[in-house]
Amino acid sequence: MSLPRRILRALAGPFLAPSRFDQLTSLLERRMDGLERGPLRTVLDRQHLLEQRIDGLTKEQERLRRVVAGEELDEDDRAREPFRGPLPETVEPVPESSWVDASGGCPPKKVERVSACPVCGEQERTAVCRYNKMITMAAVPDADAAIYDYALCHGCGLVYATRRPSGPRFAWLLEHFEESLGRSQMGVRRGGKLTLSSYELDDAARVQLRALASHGVFVSEDKGLTSKDFLWQLQADRFSNSRHVELLGSLLALKAPRVLEIRSRLGSISEALRRLYGATVSAMAMFPNQRFLIQEVYGIRADAPLDFDHFRVPYQAPFDLIIANHMVTHSIRPGEFLATVRELLAPAGHVYFYNEPLEDEFLRDEKSMFNTLNAFHLQTFNRESFVRAVQASGFEIVHVGREGHSLFCLARKAETPPVWDRMSEAEQRGRRAAYRKAYDLSIVLLPEHARPRFADVWPKTLDRVKDRGLIAEDGRGRMRIMRSVD
Ligand SMILES: [Zn+2]
Repeated sequence: MSLPRRILRALAGPFLAPSRFDQLTSLLERRMDGLERGPLRTVLDRQHLLEQRIDGLTKEQERLRRVVAGEELDEDDRAREPFRGPLPETVEPVPESSWVDASGGCPPKKVERVSACPVCGEQERTAVCRYNKMITMAAVPDADAAIYDYALCHGCGLVYATRRPSGPRFAWLLEHFEESLGRSQMGVRRGGKLTLSSYELDDAARVQLRALASHGVFVSEDKGLTSKDFLWQLQADRFSNSRHVELLGSLLALKAPRVLEIRSRLGSISEALRRLYGATVSAMAMFPNQRFLIQEVYGIRADAPLDFDHFRVPYQAPFDLIIANHMVTHSIRPGEFLATVRELLAPAGHVYFYNEPLEDEFLRDEKSMFNTLNAFHLQTFNRESFVRAVQASGFEIVHVGREGHSLFCLARKAETPPVWDRMSEAEQRGRRAAYRKAYDLSIVLLPEHARPRFADVWPKTLDRVKDRGLIAEDGRGRMRIMRSVD
């Protein structure tokens, strides 16, 4: 008997019938229970624990299902676990007009149709992805904006957008960079990020940036400044790009080289090459505030804007080394871009590409392909196809490597165009299959608001993804994504 019950019994025992006593004590106990939150928490904890057990059982069930299906599960086989909430079996379609918001005034022209590989010129190709990242966003500026029709080139193996914005349309997207990337809502400017904003600088912003930059790159913490008083991004940029300087300095004999840094973030590579190797440097940056800061902080010439459409360099050529950050993936005309880089180089000059996103992020690591292929990612590739594209453009490879999902590549201008082999049948077959799988998975990974856009293909996509073991029923009969754990 509980303590309150015993006390009550002792007090009231002689005066009450046992049944009445029980009623009263139960009532009292319920009220006492109501006074504490403990029991509720216990129930929630218990529920959470059960959900976890269900997830664990789902994992095991999925493994067993595959064993029963005759699959050999070896050590390379990836462990999977349920990810996110349940998926609906069907979704209701919505009219396209419900997710187009034309109020931003995105120019309808020009959408260019690309009929052959923009690097090697091969016309044979396979369609691999209809959409870019805009298909995942709550609203798009017009119906065309999300459709890029990416295709796999059968020659060099580049994956490229066969429909791509150019001219004023591309300029509009660039002007709305953060929104176009899905970092902020269409029409809403994102504040705060001084060094990576696409907006024009006014006098007040210049004064503010100059004041912040006046503290220099390396600001000692004992100065008592807060991160709002100075540009901590300058030091961060020096640190994060020092690895590229390390590689270039180790692989090349740099003797007062003439260097061009394309799409420099904040001038850090140029500055390091100048300091260490007596380089003569000039830079091109994407945004007005970056151009302003590179000149203000380092006195490096950086006034030329960066044109992804018709790439031109107004500085004095030739260069011994050209460094290009994330350019092949963004170029509207990558073949022209690579040809221009080659022309700008001195004989046997070098080009260093870095931060070029590899397709394995979605082909191997099962991330959403739509997310990676944002509106500015007009090309993607594996290492082999990047190498072939660079060779096809008149360079010989010096060094190629990867960091996470990005590729870096140092190449030398070749006197005579190097011989390169087309993508093999096996590689083509493998990548086509991988793209089909990634495309289906990307649909399943869409945020809920975007699923209705795929209402007609949803059930069949779900079936295919289920057959590949990428989704499975959990212990409560709900379809869940089975995400690879490693
Ligand atoms: Zn090609």
